[in-house]
Amino acid sequence: MSRSHRDHKIVIIGAGASGIACATKLLEYGFQNVLVLEAEDRLGGRIHTIPFGANVIDMGAQWCHGEQDNIVHELASKHDLLESTGPVYENYQCVRSNREVLPDNVANRLKAIVGDSLVTRQLELRHCSGSLGSYLSNKFYEMLRLPENADIDQVIADEFFDNYKKFENSVEASDTLEEVSGRGYLNYWECEGDILLNWKDKGYVELLRLLMHSRELKSDSDLGVLEQRVLFNRSVKCINWNRNDSRVELQLTNGESCLADHVIVTVSLGVLKEQHLQLFEPKLPVAKQRAIEGLAFGTVNKLFVEFPQAFWPEDWTGFTLLWREEDLSDIRNTSRAWLEDVFGFYRVSYQPNVLAGWIINANGRHMETLPEGEVIAGCMYLFRRFLHWSIPEPVGFRTSAWYTNEHFRGSYSFRSMDTERLGTGAGDLAQPLTVVTMTPQSPSRDKSLHQQSRCDKPIVLFGGEATSEHYYSTVHGAVEAGWREAKRLADFYGLSGAVNVTKSQL
Ligand SMILES: Cc1cc2nc3c(=O)[nH]c(=O)nc-3n(C[C@H](O)[C@H](O)[C@H](O)COP(=O)(O)OP(=O)(O)OC[C@H]3O[C@@H](n4cnc5c(N)ncnc54)[C@H](O)[C@@H]3O)c2cc1C
Repeated sequence: MSRSHRDHKIVIIGAGASGIACATKLLEYGFQNVLVLEAEDRLGGRIHTIPFGANVIDMGAQWCHGEQDNIVHELASKHDLLESTGPVYENYQCVRSNREVLPDNVANRLKAIVGDSLVTRQLELRHCSGSLGSYLSNKFYEMLRLPENADIDQVIADEFFDNYKKFENSVEASDTLEEVSGRGYLNYWECEGDILLNWKDKGYVELLRLLMHSRELKSDSDLGVLEQRVLFNRSVKCINWNRNDSRVELQLTNGESCLADHVIVTVSLGVLKEQHLQLFEPKLPVAKQRAIEGLAFGTVNKLFVEFPQAFWPEDWTGFTLLWREEDLSDIRNTSRAWLEDVFGFYRVSYQPNVLAGWIINANGRHMETLPEGEVIAGCMYLFRRFLHWSIPEPVGFRTSAWYTNEHFRGSYSFRSMDTERLGTGAGDLAQPLTVVTMTPQSPSRDKSLHQQSRCDKPIVLFGGEATSEHYYSTVHGAVEAGWREAKRLADFYGLSGAVNVTKSQL
C-alpha cells in the first residue's frame, strides 16, 4: 500500500463488537492510522463478561445465535470455542403465583401452541399489516379454540400467554408486542442451527480476543493488534463533518479534539436517538434522522442471583412466573409493582448455583434505578411467592443496567410500527455521509492509466448492530456491520485484499 493510504487517519467511535471488528479489519486491509475512541473505561460495549459465582457471566450478549451464515460462529468454530446450551429455554417449568407447577401435559401443549413453527410465522407475517402482538394474540386464541385444546383451562392459558408475551418482548427488546411490526419482524433472519451456543467458561468476551488476536496473550487486558490504538474514557460530544478541508473534527467531552480523514460511528441506536441533534454538526440529512427516529431500540435487563447451593430440582432448567390475576393486586400500586415484568429465571452454563432472571420494558428501566438491596429483596419475594421450597439467602447478585448508562440507552434494536410508518430501515442508517472529492490514487490501479475524476468520499460512516439489514440486535450483525464499513473504505481506496496482521508487525 502506498504511504498515503497507510496514513489516512481513521477514527472509530465505540469499542463494542462492531468497532473492534472494524478496526481489526482495517488493519488487515493495511490501514495503519486507526484509532478507537471509547467512552467507557472498558472494551466490548454490549459484550460485557464479568467474573461471578463459579465462573463468569455476560451482562449483555451471551449466546451466538445460529450457525449457518453466522460470522461469529464461523470465527469461533475454527477454535472450538462454542458449545450448545441445550433446551434451557424450552424445557422450563411454568409456575403460578400460588406455587402450583403446571403439569407437563398442560405446559407442553401451551408451549406447542406458541411455538408454532417459525416457517408458519414467516409465511403468515408476510401478509400482516398489523403488529406482532395482534398476530400472536389472534393465533394463540385461534389455536386455543380448537377442539383438541378445549380441556385447557382458559385462566391458565391467559396467564401463560401473558408470560409468553413478556418473553417475546425480551427477544425483541420491545415494551409491548403491539409496538413491534409484524412484517418488520421478518427483516430479521435467524441463522440456521443451534441458536443458543455459549462460550463455555470464557464468556462472550472471547470473541473480542479472537478478533484482536489476543487469546494467546497472558494478560486479559492485552488488546492484541489494537494495543495502543484504543483510548478509553473518551466520549465524543460533537462530530463536525462540514469543514472546508473535507476532514472531520471530533470534540470530546474532556476538552480534547482531533481531526480525521474518516470517522466510523458505531454507538448504539439509543445513543443516536438521544444525541444526534447535538452530536452532528451540521445536523444529519433528513433520511438519516428518519432512520434514527423510526428504527426502534428498547431495554431488556438480566438479574443474576447466586445461591450457596442449588435449591431447584436437577431436571429444572428454569421456571417462568405465571401471575394469577388475584395475586397481582398484592404488588400492583406498591413499590414492588416492577416485579410483574420479571418473567422467569433460568440456569446459566458453567454456573451450578446461579439463576439468571430477565426483566423487560419500563419496569426493567425502573429496576435499574433501585438500590441493590431492594432489587435483591424483590427477587427473593418472587422466589418465595412462586416456589414451595425453603429458599436460602443469596450469596451473590448482579443486574445489568443498559438504559441508565448514557453510553447505551437500551439493549438492542427492533422494527416497530413507526419503522413501517416512516418507511425507513437499516440501509438508511448505514448510509455514509460523503463529500465530493477527486478519486484517490490507488496502489492497485495502473497509475499511467488512472484518470482522476470526481467522486463521493465517505467521511462519516455508520456501523453498529442497528445498521445491519437482517442481523440487527446481535453480535454477528454488529461484527458484519464493522467489516462492511472497513470494506467501504478499502473499496474507496481501491484496496482489494486483506493482509495478515500480527501484533509483532505493528
Ligand atoms: C442484555 C443483552 C443481551 C444480549 N444478548 C445477545 C446474545 O445473546 N447474542 C447476541 O448476538 N447479541 C446479544 N445482544 C446484542 C449484542 O450485545 C449487540 O447487538 C452488540 O454487542 C452491539 O455491538 P455494537 O458494537 O453495535 O454496539 P455497542 O456494543 O453498544 O458498542 C458501542 C460502543 O460505543 C461506545 N460509545 C457510546 N457513545 C459514545 C461516545 N459518545 N463516544 C465514544 N464512545 C461511545 C459505547 O460505550 C460502546 O462501547 C444482547 C444485548 C443485551 C443488552
